[in-house]
Amino acid sequence: MFTAVSGAGHPALEAIESRIWEAARQLGLADGLVENVIAPRRVLEVSVPYTRADGTRGHATGWRVHHNTTRGPAKGGVRYHPEVCRDEVVALAAGMSLKCALMNLPLGGAKGGVATDPRAHTSKELERITRRYTTEIFPLIGPDKDVPAPDVGTNAQVMAWMMDQYSMAMGYAVPGVVTGKPIELYGSLGRESATGRGVVEAATLAAEELGFGIEGARVVIQGYGNVGSWAARLAVERGARVVAVSDVDGAVHDPAGLDLERIDRALAEGAHSLVETGVGDVIGTGVEASSEMFGVDCDIVMPCALSGAIDRAEAEQLTARLIVEGANGPTTPEADLVLADRDIWLIPDVYANAGGVTCSYLEQCQNFAHLTWSEDEVNDRVVRLMRDAYGRLRDTAESLGIRHRLAATVLGLRTIVDAHHLRGLSPS
Ligand code: GLU
Repeated sequence: MFTAVSGAGHPALEAIESRIWEAARQLGLADGLVENVIAPRRVLEVSVPYTRADGTRGHATGWRVHHNTTRGPAKGGVRYHPEVCRDEVVALAAGMSLKCALMNLPLGGAKGGVATDPRAHTSKELERITRRYTTEIFPLIGPDKDVPAPDVGTNAQVMAWMMDQYSMAMGYAVPGVVTGKPIELYGSLGRESATGRGVVEAATLAAEELGFGIEGARVVIQGYGNVGSWAARLAVERGARVVAVSDVDGAVHDPAGLDLERIDRALAEGAHSLVETGVGDVIGTGVEASSEMFGVDCDIVMPCALSGAIDRAEAEQLTARLIVEGANGPTTPEADLVLADRDIWLIPDVYANAGGVTCSYLEQCQNFAHLTWSEDEVNDRVVRLMRDAYGRLRDTAESLGIRHRLAATVLGLRTIVDAHHLRGLSPS
């Protein structure tokens, strides 16, 4: 049974709400409480007018959503994408609530978005959009209230502009208002690689449990942005072979393992896409090539791009034994059923890509204490927290006899619900 709490009309929102309901049934929770946890705490829609490079006026719509704030300040990225909408931002914010809870971070869940294509703007336009968006969501953000971070389409430079805009309004520098900042502005060493590092740690632990190990494993990665490219490099560092990768323009394949250094060099030297690097055989061009790539012979698939990438058809053609979700929401509920049927393991997004927000939390710790940790110290802490959470995930899945997706949702939901019970309802 699916009951929309927040007027779900987007597949990502329907997916996460139905997953939370399933976990609630597993936990035997009362209806009113589940609806309370599912409904976003507050949703702010803002208008973002900006001046284009040619002097004309442009306009975009933006959102900032606080999903759950019972366990601490809201935390989550800001996405710039032409198709981002209110319901998707709510869904992503709900995912952050579960993610922070299951990782035991003292944070709630949030997400932001601006419906615009960052690739279609000049850097100055992006700066104007970012500054105006920051001003519009100003009442919601702050180091103790809500701390944005990078997500799809945003990066450290965008965070630097947000930090500056917020600081200018406050009258003093407030580095702790965002994470994922440039190192020069008190960002954390290790933040850039953290999500990919977490994905590879998750893959390592799951592959070990499945009995084949990451060393020598053949890996297919969808997306070669921040998450996918770091996951690729770090998987190779652990002895895996990355046999296929894709981006929006196409997919490349080499059963002997792609030469990632050559790919990175070609991209740095001006190649616009993986296909243009000339490394490996081209499987296909365009976004559709990713679907084809999922059929490539391999052991592990890491979808590290956008949501909905693995639907029923892709799930049916997968040869991998293990899927590790680097992106948020890459697998549809219909695909989940096929994967369960085919006994393919899936390590879900709310755990698998949690290395990013875990490192963001470490960045907050450093900012609050005016400290700087070494890269090794940060990486070690991220890996340790990922391992601890894996233990909890594995134990929950085993003891309840359920798949990892449901186990992760159960863990996150239980942690949030415990906090609700302890704090009580106001007015009571
Ligand atoms: N956008 C990332 C995520 O989806 C990181 C969020 C953060 O660091 O706050 O987990």
